[in-house]
Amino acid sequence: MQSTWGGIEVGGTKIVCVVTRGPEDILAETRFPTTTPNNAFSKIIRFFEATQPETLSGIGVASFGPLDLNPDSPTYGYITSTPKPDWINTDFLTPLKTAFNLPVAFDTDVNGAALGEHLWGAAQGLDTFIYLTIGTGIGGGGMVNGKLLHGLTHPEMGHIWIPHDLEKDPFSGACLTHGDCFEGLAAGTAMKKRWGQPAEELPIDHPAWELEAYYLALGLVNYIFTLSPQRIIIGGGVMHHPKLIKMIRGNIQKFLQGYVRHPVLEENIESYIILPGLGDKAGVLGAVGLAMKSQNFTE
Ligand code: ZN
Repeated sequence: MQSTWGGIEVGGTKIVCVVTRGPEDILAETRFPTTTPNNAFSKIIRFFEATQPETLSGIGVASFGPLDLNPDSPTYGYITSTPKPDWINTDFLTPLKTAFNLPVAFDTDVNGAALGEHLWGAAQGLDTFIYLTIGTGIGGGGMVNGKLLHGLTHPEMGHIWIPHDLEKDPFSGACLTHGDCFEGLAAGTAMKKRWGQPAEELPIDHPAWELEAYYLALGLVNYIFTLSPQRIIIGGGVMHHPKLIKMIRGNIQKFLQGYVRHPVLEENIESYIILPGLGDKAGVLGAVGLAMKSQNFTE
């Protein structure tokens, strides 16, 4: 019997699960809203139980955070200090291990997506790059020298500070912790609060998009200066706007002011700031990638 892999993408608004043999061979898929942990675990377990769990070689979880990713910590595999009250201190690994007695790999949603893009998408062949999602919140992960970015805990790229001109944009920000941090100014939640309607319902020529491209480029320029990524991949629902990525590229060239010199930035920025190669599947396939990688099934 051919082995299969399970992937679980735990997002701020929805959870996606797949069983797959590889990136193009998804055998089963389900998605449901991120309500409470109890509700989620019963749906996740029911899904995998219905899909020949005896063929599964492992499960990968790519989750919103903050997370405890230190394998030596007693709370390894927990969602920790999240602003979502139902999910504070949720042990994600034990219920899955108890139900299926399988290895379960665990990382941030954005590191998962970065790994998926590295294995099968727009970051193949690169060893230093960033994956950013602009959705309900803003998150960033990636690889440096071929290793997924961890460190003290894990990066929280959505919560950097960027210039906020209160005359140009008097909105006070939507981050529950910081107010007008990057996520507080530029995530989907911020757009909805500032303009009174969700990003996907704003007309494509609404002034919201110019401001959005301005903020996103400011954030990205900071990552270019600090990490020197070989490429930046941007996914998430807000990026569905057809011209936003082009507007971001133009602003980045302006904000860099020629200080970082490279032909890709000056002549070929279309190949530098790009959408995910795996589209909206980057997160859940990344979770599958985490499971495969933890058992040395890749590279
Ligand atoms: Zn914040």
